[in-house]
Amino acid sequence: MAVTPPDIATALIHHPYRAPAGFEAPQPGVFKASTVFFPSVAAMRRTEWKDKTGYTYGLHGTPTTYLLEERLCTLEGGLQCVLSPSGLAAIANLSLAMLRSGDEVLIPDNAYGPSKALAAAELKAWGITHRFYDPLDPLDLAARISPATRLVWLEAPGSVTMEFPDLPALVRVCQARGAGLAFAPFDLTPGSSPALAVDFSVHALTKYPSGGGDVLMGSVITRDPALHMAVKLTHMRLGLGVGVNDIETILRSLPSMELRYKAHDEAARELARWCQSRSEFVQVLHPALAGSPGHDAWRALCKPGPGGAAGLFSVMVDPRFSQAQVDAFCDQLKLFKLGYSWGGAVSLVVPYDMASLRTGWPAVLKPGRVVRFSIGLEGAADLKLDMAQALSSALA
Ligand SMILES: *Cc1c(COP(=O)(O)O)cnc(C)c1O
Repeated sequence: MAVTPPDIATALIHHPYRAPAGFEAPQPGVFKASTVFFPSVAAMRRTEWKDKTGYTYGLHGTPTTYLLEERLCTLEGGLQCVLSPSGLAAIANLSLAMLRSGDEVLIPDNAYGPSKALAAAELKAWGITHRFYDPLDPLDLAARISPATRLVWLEAPGSVTMEFPDLPALVRVCQARGAGLAFAPFDLTPGSSPALAVDFSVHALTKYPSGGGDVLMGSVITRDPALHMAVKLTHMRLGLGVGVNDIETILRSLPSMELRYKAHDEAARELARWCQSRSEFVQVLHPALAGSPGHDAWRALCKPGPGGAAGLFSVMVDPRFSQAQVDAFCDQLKLFKLGYSWGGAVSLVVPYDMASLRTGWPAVLKPGRVVRFSIGLEGAADLKLDMAQALSSALA
């Protein structure tokens, strides 16, 4: 017989009922915790969280955390995953786990801007130096690797300017020099030797895995237990916990990611091709378009059909138009909203200032003013009409 405590205050907190086990539904249960209970002091002392054999504290994960981590490992071909509160936090987590004072990190010149800022301000303050390399030139990377180089970031394609690097060639350069690597799949050429692999894959789950434009999260995936443990311990010491309600939204979005990704890709290619036909744009930057920087490297590594590219592309607006006219074009768009990030249902646009993004004007880019589009899930014909009306009203 269940014993009900006599004090209502206690009865409100402690109750003997336990729902039957075995409940299954399309979405997994959401387990929230800072505190986790142990059945005994002995269990408390013995329970280990590092290898997912138990639960100790919310920061170290709940069943919901473990579930998303394992699903991401499977998708990526990794063995261990650590979640962070944003993609940038995942980059910081990995950086602080791998780099020590006196070390150097190499970053592609077209990298995500805030990653560069992390190196230029935070890492620098810890005595860690950084250098930028030309992502389209493996020889440039080779020339910059020094005995102090401890970490090399790869990004494919580059943020904003969309160059697709020759990842296998960059990896070969790093392996020849014994440097660590970051960001890209674990098997760079399908069917190739697993030796052509990176050490870490970092994702912004904020983008396509979420697909909602409403949650921030990042992941660091590894195959090497020692590298994983270094990231995991830094993650724990920095307290980079991820809210379980946010994890739930990613778990809810994952089943549709393949379909969404294909739809984003198809519409983006259609719009990019249409932009090629417009005289206002002197260059369209989309890795799947012949002639776009890195197109050959993209074709060698990615599947050509739907899902082989993403929903992002940029245009170089003819320099005869002023920045004010380009800004007016962006303002005139109705379906495209002005906003950062991508991967959601709503199409987005951002005009960028190239001078603030790069160390110099890249040889592969024609002179002009860069505008980046993130193609959402609206009808491509409607997006085209929207672009057409904004072009004729702002860039006439
Ligand atoms: C989006 C993105 C990030 C940052 O992710 P957040 O979740 O927004 O912090 C970092 N690097 C790259 C290449 C990205 O595309």
